[in-house]
Amino acid sequence: MDKIKMITPIVEIDGDEMTRVVWQWIKDILIYPFVDLKSEYYDLSLVNREATSDQVTKDAAAAIDRLGVGVKCATITPNAQRMTEYSLTKMWKSPNGTIRAALDGTVFREPIMVDGISPLVSGWTSPIVIARHAYGDVYKDVEAVCPKGSKAELVITADGKESRVLICDYNKCGGVVLGMHNLDDSIRSFAKSCFNYALNKKLDLWFSSKDTISATYDHRFKDIFQEEFDTNYKSAFEEAGITYFYTLIDDAVARVMRSKGGFIWACKNYDGDVMSDMLATAFGSLAMMTSVLVSPTGKYEFEAAHGTVTRHYYRHLKGESTGTNPIATIFAWTGGLKKRGELDGTPDLVRYADLLEKATIQTVESGYMTGDLKSIFKKEGVEPHALTTTEFLQKIADALKQAL
Ligand code: NAP
Ligand code: MG
Repeated sequence: MDKIKMITPIVEIDGDEMTRVVWQWIKDILIYPFVDLKSEYYDLSLVNREATSDQVTKDAAAAIDRLGVGVKCATITPNAQRMTEYSLTKMWKSPNGTIRAALDGTVFREPIMVDGISPLVSGWTSPIVIARHAYGDVYKDVEAVCPKGSKAELVITADGKESRVLICDYNKCGGVVLGMHNLDDSIRSFAKSCFNYALNKKLDLWFSSKDTISATYDHRFKDIFQEEFDTNYKSAFEEAGITYFYTLIDDAVARVMRSKGGFIWACKNYDGDVMSDMLATAFGSLAMMTSVLVSPTGKYEFEAAHGTVTRHYYRHLKGESTGTNPIATIFAWTGGLKKRGELDGTPDLVRYADLLEKATIQTVESGYMTGDLKSIFKKEGVEPHALTTTEFLQKIADALKQAL
């Protein structure tokens, strides 16, 4: 069989621990035998981030900006314990945060659905894709304790003039106060990424906030989304047969629960933080959740939503086989290669990625999976078997060979 050719390289971002091991297995078993892989490789293992003073992360982000499509393995975000474990000279920032900031991007999380793993909400028959605004609000706030007898005011200084608004008079008892902000540019980038991704996926877009209560702050989000839609996206949405829909966050939550799925839900920072964990759990498994970073200018980075699966790694180092679920990482690769193929006009690469996704789902649906899925798999007439990661990848490769 001739290997599938690529034109433009994909930015390949390697990572840490168990997912780094699985990364190599996926390439060896599911990619190299079928595709003449062209990649520009960046090693974002914590060891190499330390060795390069994190320059490699910045280079990787610049490469995605230049080439347009990247695929990323999970990476360790250092904390105090990791500082000791890896003898770090600095607590390097989260690579995802650095790349997201460099590309000014928005993260979309999407569950992979399989017959036999049912969402906890029985009406959801299609995925719900969630987008979270990743700048500002309570994540960049300032807070203070206000003792009894104090007064908190909002002071805005412009052109040397001060305007003051009373927040609270703490005359009866003490309390707390919080100041937070957002920026028009960031909200606009968020809106553009959401509209672009909706067009790319041909899915309706919902956006929710609390503009009735927050009549200036949240209303600004609503207005910027509407303005962007009206000036730049309306006709493209009509052509694609999709809609943009704004509603209050509480109404959105109720509608999401009653829905069949099959749309993108854009959320403000805090709402997205909370609701994405709710959706991931309700759809069945973190190991079945993919994630894609989309920039307002249409650059893409695909990855799994889960972390480096540390506990499995230490078992792997002791020589035990782990049965780490590779599906979300496989879908990061297929997402990236599919996008690369679309941009380069190489239908063989798109077809390969589609068939690899189908082969993966079909393998699970026919009863072969990793241990984490076996415990939640229920399908009439199909007995689930727990495989090791490489056994599972081999089964998928067999199904893919058949399909190709
Ligand atoms: P995690 O790696 O997602 O793992 C949490 C637990 O979820 C695992 O211990 C495992 O449970 C289960 N799990 C997750 N993915 C799985 C898979 N593919 N197959 C089977 N089980 C899976 O999260 P964490 O333990 O909180 O974080 C570990 C490291 O990952 C941290 O250093 C963190 O900084 C990093 N992280 C990176 C990213 C990223 O790069 N995008 C995201 C999150 C976390 P059992 O152990 O019970 O089997
Ligand atoms: Mg959260």
